[in-house]
Amino acid sequence: MGRRPGPRAAIDAGGLVVVMKVKVDSEKCQGHNRCYAMAPGMFKVDELGYATPRGDGTLTPDKMALAQKAVDNCPERAIEIVDE
Ligand code: SF4
Repeated sequence: MGRRPGPRAAIDAGGLVVVMKVKVDSEKCQGHNRCYAMAPGMFKVDELGYATPRGDGTLTPDKMALAQKAVDNCPERAIEIVDE
């Protein structure tokens, strides 16, 4: 699997703080639980293994690398890091 683009900086070119969040596309998620294992505490899974971010998915800077690891290891490409 090819490497995907990494997360962007938390501050944009205009100096505004950008809130980064991790999201799971429920249409793509197949319940492998890989994200749950790769990024402890970042995702919760239901009884069938389908994942959703904990809380609202907001990423603090120290969690960015862990979130990217989950993105890179999701076989369904269901996880993305977005700015809001
Ligand atoms: S690794 Fe991807 S497909 Fe598997 S549970 Fe997590 S989000 Fe869903």
